[in-house]
Amino acid sequence: MKIGLRIDVDTFRGTRYGVPNLCKLLAKYSINASFFFSVGPDNMGRHLWRLLRPAFLWKMLRTRATSLYGWDILLKGTFWPGPVIGEKLENIIRLTADASHEVGLHAWDHHRWQANIDKMNAAAVNHSVNQGVEMLTHILGHPPRCSAVPGWKCNDNVLLAKSRFPFEYNSDCRGESIFHPLVSGEELLQPQIPVTLPTYDEVIGRNGVTDENYNEYLLSLVKPNELNVLTIHAEVEGIACRDMFSRFLEMAHNKGVSFVPLGAMLREYHPTGSAEIIKKEIPGREGWIAYQADLSSCRKEID
Ligand SMILES: [Zn+2]
Repeated sequence: MKIGLRIDVDTFRGTRYGVPNLCKLLAKYSINASFFFSVGPDNMGRHLWRLLRPAFLWKMLRTRATSLYGWDILLKGTFWPGPVIGEKLENIIRLTADASHEVGLHAWDHHRWQANIDKMNAAAVNHSVNQGVEMLTHILGHPPRCSAVPGWKCNDNVLLAKSRFPFEYNSDCRGESIFHPLVSGEELLQPQIPVTLPTYDEVIGRNGVTDENYNEYLLSLVKPNELNVLTIHAEVEGIACRDMFSRFLEMAHNKGVSFVPLGAMLREYHPTGSAEIIKKEIPGREGWIAYQADLSSCRKEID
């Protein structure tokens, strides 16, 4: 069994501490993964406080947010402008690529994207993607070959904006199979590799899932002979839940489960049709996320 492993890096702290921790851990198991970096200003503190509503407060308590994210993340960008991650930590991003991991674009400003995507017009979306691509091109010496939007906040403007950049694939939604997105009935060339498995913060503390049984629960969701894509966060599995994630890799290893970058999944599971991307709400996550629609047409192709 194979899992495509995607690592989202949302913050300065996650880049500074979580990424080197994960690189060390992955090296121990000779695993290469896909890292998606946020490279502009870190205003994530602003984002987390903005969500301070009863439902989110409960999630903060459920996930022990201060230990999960750290006080410095919760305060970043709230009282002063956040640091530009790609300027301050370009070395870490370059070292990640040098260690043969796949490096892609997550965001320019993660907070702004998550908070404003519904209000951003095509030009604003294009500008944001372009800023991220330019920064990563400067750091890597070549344009990033893949991307994944923050918080699965993707719409048709995003898909069209991305089609103008040389991405080999994008991972902007949840779903079940690799597919070509449809915008106004037209199939775009860049395939989408959807995430199939839940994230830690979506399931922990719900339906009896605890830190003690989380790894087993997650492994029970992996489906043989189907696309499996897992997202972890540099801030979570790379810092607060590092030991637990280390045990997860060991358990997976013992079960014969291997991990590959998302680009490798693309070579193995070719796109199986086209689908629109729709908005959907899922348990454990605030607001809507982008989801692969019209799965029936994809299934037909597999049969
Ligand atoms: Zn993110």
